[in-house]
Amino acid sequence: MKQLHEILPPGLPFGDLMDALSGVHRVYGRAGLEMAAFRDASGVACPEGCGSCCETFVPDVLPLEAAYLAAWLARESPERARTLALEGFSDAKRAAPHCPFYRFDDAAHCSVYEGRPLICRLFGFSGVRSKDGAPGFALCRRMDALPGRAARSWKGEDLGRELGAVPPLMSDLASELAAVRPNESPERRLLTEALPDALRKILFLAGFGANDPGDEPEPEPLAPMPRAG
Ligand code: SF4
Repeated sequence: MKQLHEILPPGLPFGDLMDALSGVHRVYGRAGLEMAAFRDASGVACPEGCGSCCETFVPDVLPLEAAYLAAWLARESPERARTLALEGFSDAKRAAPHCPFYRFDDAAHCSVYEGRPLICRLFGFSGVRSKDGAPGFALCRRMDALPGRAARSWKGEDLGRELGAVPPLMSDLASELAAVRPNESPERRLLTEALPDALRKILFLAGFGANDPGDEPEPEPLAPMPRAG
């Protein structure tokens, strides 16, 4: 995983937003490490080239997840970021059942991989907590059974014993992410709705050096905007 400064657009000012993005980056880093540790210990693996998680799914995200992806896009693909900020997603993309960043014809599938939201970092590899707090995990229906094992789901103490590690738990990581800016946690929106707004703010800040989008007047949606970088 890259360092935070490697995914941010040049010109984004230090301040509350940078601190919050640092918090998101930390949670994403932890999710990646826990996911890799679980995958390596358990042998759980997605089928080669499978992208089915994204084919009928559009993530809903916290404002900071949208800001993180917006920052990544503004650095990696400034023209694409500017177009999305100005025009948003087309009606066809907003109506489609699959994520607008999913590429059917590309083996890597996700076209925003390094900026993707939390849930996308855990597809297929996250566990859940039952009401009593015990962790549970089930193989995706597209995953092959693990060699020599008939079971496809595990819970409680069996989980760590049978699979060699406990998977990252979605609820724990989601809570940690929401705690970065707790007042924003009820504001989840579909990525297709949240990202254009986040891009407008990120490009505005990267271009004009304002301190925090929440403290600044919104730029006009269709006004000419500075290019990031
Ligand atoms: S952002 Fe990437 S990983 Fe997440 S749903 Fe879209 S294509 Fe899939």
